[in-house]
Amino acid sequence: AKSTGKENYEFFSPELLDSSIRKQEITAALQQALVNGEFSVHYQPQVELLSGRVIGFEALLRWNSALGAVPPAEFIPVAEECGAIHPIGEWVLREACRQLDAWRREGRPDIHVSVNVSAKQFLDPEFAEKVARVLNETNVPAGCVEIEITESVMIDLDTAAGLVEELQEIGVKLAIDDFGTGYSSLNAVKNIQIDTLKIDKSLVDEVLGSDRSMAILATIIELGKNLGAEVVVEGLETIEQVTLMRQYEVIGQGYYFSRPLPADKAARVWDKYLEQ
Ligand code: C2E
Ligand code: CA
Ligand code: CA
Ligand code: CA
Repeated sequence: AKSTGKENYEFFSPELLDSSIRKQEITAALQQALVNGEFSVHYQPQVELLSGRVIGFEALLRWNSALGAVPPAEFIPVAEECGAIHPIGEWVLREACRQLDAWRREGRPDIHVSVNVSAKQFLDPEFAEKVARVLNETNVPAGCVEIEITESVMIDLDTAAGLVEELQEIGVKLAIDDFGTGYSSLNAVKNIQIDTLKIDKSLVDEVLGSDRSMAILATIIELGKNLGAEVVVEGLETIEQVTLMRQYEVIGQGYYFSRPLPADKAARVWDKYLEQ
């Protein structure tokens, strides 16, 4: 496959999102994708800015389909709609855990993997059971796995709170993704105990040129810390952004450190951080 990053997808254009033909093609192709082995997982490091230590990797799904490389932003919504997200999501979780176990067996330092979970998956009454099964199969300690959800799972707070509790009993960590982009971010963190707050790239993009954006970002970081959560700042691309963020003692993620990469290449990036 020649696509190495988001900008290299040749078959994606926003207009096509609305095309029902395209959607049908994706729906059909998704049915075969798992058995054909068309999915892979890329890993992007999360770096503790003060120490320069890699403390985890986010698992990001890649699909090299008969239609070409289709980005997750295009196929995940379709997979949610047709139900394929359930087996696919379980596959990603298992694959990420399998990889973490392989790294642990190599004697690598303790880290976590963060796995994105759609609201559809999360709200599946059997989700926690599936998570427990995968942890068992792969031998990975629950505390090394972080589930990334968005505030969209909080629409029905009572249901969400129960499911969160089940996951907390298992011992996996919970992250709120894309924090600050929705309408009810505060509601999401008010009602459940979260381990990690991931601040969306859009909030970071403007801070260098805008005092007001910086004030908002600094306040959200403070909020996360006051709630006892780790704070991850996403989408760091430049040394200027990293230098600025270092003062806030957060965890950074973004192209500045590494693009999401296949496991072997991600491990080589990790090695470089270990040598420093
Ligand atoms: P996300 O969870 O917010 O993931 C971060 C996205 O930003 C990823 O895009 C990542 O490649 C990209 N990114 C990371 N650093 C930078 C940076 O410095 N600059 C820029 N411009 N982008 C950066 P990707 O891999 O295309 O994934 C897009 C979205 O698709 C994810 O957003 C997530 O919502 C969803 N997704 C990806 N994998 C999965 C999965 O296994 N399951 C589910 N349910 N959703 C997934
Ligand atoms: Ca994520
Ligand atoms: Ca995110
Ligand atoms: Ca996102």
